[in-house]
Amino acid sequence: MPHVTISLHGAAGEVTGSCSLVETPTARVVIDFGLYQGTPENEARNHVMPAIEFARVDAVVVTHAHVDHCGRLGLLPSLGYDGAIFASEPTVELLPFVLRGSASLQKLRVEEWHAKSAPKCEVLEPASLRWSSWQRHDEPRILYGHQAAGKVVRELVALPWSQWQEIAPGVRARLHHASHMLGAASVELECAIPGGTPVRVLFSGDIGAQGSPVLAPHRFPDGAIDAVVMESTNGARPENSRKARGDAGTLIDAGLSELRAFVEAAQANRGKILLPSFAVGRSQLLVHAFAQLSKDGSLGEMPVFLDSGMASRACGLMGRWPNLLAAPLQRARLAGADPMDFEQLRSLRSREESAVIDGMRSACAVIAGSGFCDAGPMLRHLARALPRESTTLLFAGHVLHDTLAWGLRQGATKVAINGAEVDVRATVGRVPGFSGHASLEGLTEWLSHVPGSPRVILNHGTDAARDGAAAAIVRKGSPAVTRPAIAEPVGV
Ligand SMILES: [Zn+2]
Repeated sequence: MPHVTISLHGAAGEVTGSCSLVETPTARVVIDFGLYQGTPENEARNHVMPAIEFARVDAVVVTHAHVDHCGRLGLLPSLGYDGAIFASEPTVELLPFVLRGSASLQKLRVEEWHAKSAPKCEVLEPASLRWSSWQRHDEPRILYGHQAAGKVVRELVALPWSQWQEIAPGVRARLHHASHMLGAASVELECAIPGGTPVRVLFSGDIGAQGSPVLAPHRFPDGAIDAVVMESTNGARPENSRKARGDAGTLIDAGLSELRAFVEAAQANRGKILLPSFAVGRSQLLVHAFAQLSKDGSLGEMPVFLDSGMASRACGLMGRWPNLLAAPLQRARLAGADPMDFEQLRSLRSREESAVIDGMRSACAVIAGSGFCDAGPMLRHLARALPRESTTLLFAGHVLHDTLAWGLRQGATKVAINGAEVDVRATVGRVPGFSGHASLEGLTEWLSHVPGSPRVILNHGTDAARDGAAAAIVRKGSPAVTRPAIAEPVGV
C-alpha cells in the first residue's frame, strides 16, 4: 500500500484549473485552487466542485498568484474549509488584490449582463477564421463575493523561503523560488509515515524560463525527492526549445532586439505599439525590456504606458524582495534605484488617465490587459488603433484558442469589438523571449536539478504537451512518468 496518495483535481491534460490533493496517513493537503479559463465550457467548470472533502482538509498551499492557480480560493469558506492558506510572502501580498479583484469582476459581469454591455468580440474576415466570443445567454453565476474573498485573505499565512514549517499534522512544507513571477514557488512537502521513512513530494508550480532577466534563478531542494508533480505547459513545443538550447539568454536577447526594431519602426511612422499582456509576470518582463531600451537610448522620448493598476502594483512590489530579483536588478535595488522604473514609463490607474492614449499622435507603446484581448482596456485601444497602418500589435507569449488574440494572431482582417466593425490594417507581430514558462529543454533541465530519482507526475499541460514532456523526460533516463486523469490517485 502506498503511504502517500496524490491526485490532480484540475490542470490534468490542460493548462488551467490547477488543484491537487495530497493524502498522507495523518493529513490532507491541497496545493492550489485555480480557475478554469478560456472557453465558456471551461468557465462553466468552475462551478463544478472537485471531489475533495474540503471540510477534512488540513492545509492549503498556493504556489503563486496567477488566477489559474488561486482564482477559486474564494470558494473555500462555502466548501467548509476555514484553516490556513500558506504561500510565499510576495504571494500573500498579491493575493488580496487578485481575489478582491476577481470578486469585483464577477459582480461587474452580472451587471453587464443585465445592462447588455458585456465585452463582445468577433472575427469577421477571412471566413476561415470566423469566430464569435461567447454571448452569455444565461446570467453569469457568481462564484464568490467580497465577503468570502475577505475571509480567505484573513487566513493567508506567509511561509519563509527554504525553511521547513509544519503546516498540517505530520506534514512540513518549504518553498523554493520558481522564477516564474514575483513570489512563485515550488512547494516541497515532507510527509511523516508512522514507523517509516518520511516521503518527500515536490510540486513545481509553474516553472519560469531559464535565464529570466527579471527574476533570480530557480532554487531546489537539498534532499532526495520521492515524487515530483511537474508542469508541462511547453512540452509540445520543441521549436521554442531549439532556440533556447545552449545559451539561455539567446531567446531573451533576440526578443529585445526584435522589440527594438519595432520601436524604431513606430518612431519612424509615429505609430502605436500595443502589447496585450497579463498584469503579473509578462508585464514586468515587458517593462524591464523597455527599461533596457530606455537605457541604451533606443526609446528616445517615446512614452511607454502601463495601462493596468495591478501591473503597476506588481512592478512596485518587485523592489521589496531584492533577493528574488536577477543579479543586475538586485544590484540596482541595493544601490537605491527602482529597477522597474524609467523616465518614459507612465503608469495609468484609471479609465480617465487611459483616455490620454486615445489622442496620442506620436509614437508610443501600450502594455494593457487582457492578454487574450477579450476584455479590459486593451479592447478599447484595439478598437481605436487596429484600423491604422501605423499601429503594431505585438504578442509576447502564448494565447489561448477561441479568443480575439488568437484570431488577430492568425491574420484576421476584419473584427468586431463591442458591436463595431473594425478593419485590421495594423501590423501584427510576435516577439520571442517573454514567456513565463520554461521551454521543453528548460523543463528537463529543471528536473535534472531535483535530487534523488523521483517518480514524475505531469500536470498543467495539454495531452500533447504532457506526451512531449514525458517522452523527453524518459529519454533523459527518468524511470517513471505518470500522466494521471482527473481525480485518479497516484501512490508514492
Ligand atoms: Zn503562472
